Amino acid sequence: MIKTLCFLATYQCNAKCDFCECRPTVKDRIELSEMIRLIDEAYALGTVYVVVFSGGEPTLLKDDLLKAIQHATSKGLLTRVVTNGWWGGKRIEQGRAYLDKLIQAGLSEINISVDDLHQEWIDIEHVKNAFLACYERRFRCLIAHKQTRQSKITKSYLEAYFGVDLVDYDASRQYSEDEQARLISTSVVVPVGPVNAGKEADYEPENLLSLDWTRSCGSVLRDIIIGAKGNFLPCCGFVTKNTPELTREDLRQSTLLDAIDNANRDLMLNWIALEGPAAMAKFAQSKNPSIHLESSYTSICHICNEVLTRNDIRQAIADNLEEIKQRVAYQRVFLEKARTDQEVVKAFL
Ligand code: SF4
Ligand code: SF4
Repeated sequence: MIKTLCFLATYQCNAKCDFCECRPTVKDRIELSEMIRLIDEAYALGTVYVVVFSGGEPTLLKDDLLKAIQHATSKGLLTRVVTNGWWGGKRIEQGRAYLDKLIQAGLSEINISVDDLHQEWIDIEHVKNAFLACYERRFRCLIAHKQTRQSKITKSYLEAYFGVDLVDYDASRQYSEDEQARLISTSVVVPVGPVNAGKEADYEPENLLSLDWTRSCGSVLRDIIIGAKGNFLPCCGFVTKNTPELTREDLRQSTLLDAIDNANRDLMLNWIALEGPAAMAKFAQSKNPSIHLESSYTSICHICNEVLTRNDIRQAIADNLEEIKQRVAYQRVFLEKARTDQEVVKAFL
């Protein structure tokens, strides 16, 4: 059931972060008319409740971003902008003026990326002004923060610099009006993609995920991304061009419903949703013991990238497709039964 529609609205960015392919010279973007069509199609599904505008730097789309937010808001959908905060400006008045435009368009929430990697390119004073403009209005704002052992910009650094105590984000918690305007979520850079592949993890062990940890992916087939070239991605994870299951059809040629329908029939995506990438990696290793797996990974998406891009793992999976089909079918029946049992209990109570 799709809950989130995310546009990577443009691959253009005014920063050149080391771990990202977006650049000032890249011009790929989704036209406003396409965003409006896809918002309408997502709304018609009846399950989507939030539209995210990310990139690249989505605020570079200027009025088109505001119009797309207005359109989603007019449908009763929540909206979020993911930004590097450059628009906070040298003086807080600039940040206030731009935030007011976003709020008038109907924006529900802002995520601002702040860390050592982004601040090589974006003046942290501008980010402070963007954050404080949000906090003054108690507008929902989350700092998206990446940290390594070497990071200078830590949570406590930001608290001192902004003069505001930050609250660690926990999706299961409810926040007061004051808390929801000063959230922070800290994660690590996933070492995949053209820039980071193979880089040694520079993280405290407690920030890494043991391979013993297994969990299904809560994003695949629930959060969908539309890339700036019109490509459809069936999850919100770290996706590379080398993962055919996660880089799918061009929505300029097909409807959102057809793309979702095709994704829902995909065996690998269903397996990720039901058992998760760590279980898949271990399955492949059980079939081919020469497959080497690390003892820990930076995130579920890091393991997923291994499963979907390594030839030895893909081959072990391809050699055992019938068994995998049975596993997935069994999991689906089990889930359906659990859901029916819950409904029976609810009806009884
Ligand atoms: S600010 Fe974001 S989109 Fe821009 S280069 Fe950095 S990571 Fe990429
Ligand atoms: S685990 Fe895989 S499918 Fe799930 S969000 Fe990450 S990359 Fe996407």
